[in-house]
Amino acid sequence: MSNSFRSQEILQKNKRYIPGGIVSTNRTVEPSLVFSRAQGASLWDVDGKKYIDYHAAFGPYILGHNDEDVNLAVVKVLQSGSSLFGSGTNELEGELAELICQSIPCVDSIQLLNTGSEATYQAIRLARAQTGKDHIVKPQGGYHGWHNDVAMNLMTPLDKMGPYVSPGEYPSAPISAGIPAEHASLVHAVNYNDLASVEWVCQQYPVGAMILEPILQNIGVVKPMPGYLEGLRALADRFGFLLIFDEVKTGFRHALGGYAAVANVSPDLVVYGKAVANGFPLAVLGGKREYMDLFVAPDPAHRVLLAGTYNGHPVPVAAAIATIRKLAQNNGEIYSRLDALGVRMEEGLARIFSQQGITASVVRQCSAFSCYFMEGRPRNWHELVSQHDFALDLAWRRQLVERGIYFLPLPVKQCSLSAAHTVQDVDYTLEQAAEALAAVRQPVM
Ligand code: PMP
Repeated sequence: MSNSFRSQEILQKNKRYIPGGIVSTNRTVEPSLVFSRAQGASLWDVDGKKYIDYHAAFGPYILGHNDEDVNLAVVKVLQSGSSLFGSGTNELEGELAELICQSIPCVDSIQLLNTGSEATYQAIRLARAQTGKDHIVKPQGGYHGWHNDVAMNLMTPLDKMGPYVSPGEYPSAPISAGIPAEHASLVHAVNYNDLASVEWVCQQYPVGAMILEPILQNIGVVKPMPGYLEGLRALADRFGFLLIFDEVKTGFRHALGGYAAVANVSPDLVVYGKAVANGFPLAVLGGKREYMDLFVAPDPAHRVLLAGTYNGHPVPVAAAIATIRKLAQNNGEIYSRLDALGVRMEEGLARIFSQQGITASVVRQCSAFSCYFMEGRPRNWHELVSQHDFALDLAWRRQLVERGIYFLPLPVKQCSLSAAHTVQDVDYTLEQAAEALAAVRQPVM
């Protein structure tokens, strides 16, 4: 495997002052390439080697890297004398709020934050304040950020999960040290696509919220079965918990109205990040007015604290306005284009697996796709972790990276197309995908 010399040199140097040498430790992969430039659908490493990018920095780049309209909006706001005033409101944040609320049917009003983790934190706090109930349900295999309320039960190893559970919950499996046991005991992980388990948890504990990615996109692309999201809506109404859609990955990627609009299910609260500002750091918490208004409840005992020095910084706000306006052009025709590219990729990959006699399925939603080396499509993490060929997945991705196709070299990570990808990019990727697969399947001499 090629670990470029210069990349290695930079990593070793950075280890002196950064633990592990890398900021944000989930960026640690092998090969550990150092990238220095990106444009559109392409990345270049420090040796000048070019890659077609399907990682999209964990998802934000729906328009591609360095989009000129987004860049222009950012430059304009910097040159305008706008700044972070930290006092009162301003026209820019009002413009973005109006744009988002008009684009997304389930959102009456919004607040702005910097990261998805901050936004899910605030959503859960709102739900607890509203319902007076502290327990939370989340799907096993969902990711909602790094904080104590949610940093658990993501890619839990099979031996820590035990046998398939339904109805019921999986053992608590924090993904970080330092989470107090009291916090973990308030979070209940259930199979995705399993309504009976949500009902079971609600019968055992006072549940204030269920938070979920409407499509599990931190373990590839695991889709809701017909009736699942509607069933959760009905359970929320029946048991009196708030339904929170974490659309940090799905929002603005699959449709302007998010996956809630695609599925036609209304959550109580919803969180966006990533694609909303095409790579600039912004997150949005939105939802029904009666819950959002808890941030300004007249009675301080019921008011939820929302404060952040950098919330609504004009640079990401300008980037988001430009991104959403571009996504909305011509009635959102960009999404049809992304879907067509996605179909071409999905069909091409499925053909390759079939031609090479590999048991696999390709799961896709618009521009996001993932390949599973197993029989059928996974319905939840338990099925995935017990059946997917992780070793083949990783070996294939590393071969692809060698060949200039950047699928993040970690198993079951979602791949993302952007509006900057072309049909030629997809066709070239498919050629390389076929050769890479044949190469990793050759017996070792
Ligand atoms: N929710 C989901 C669905 C995510 O994918 C992520 C990040 N991968 C987060 C929340 C947290 O967002 P951030 O990394 O911006 O804190």
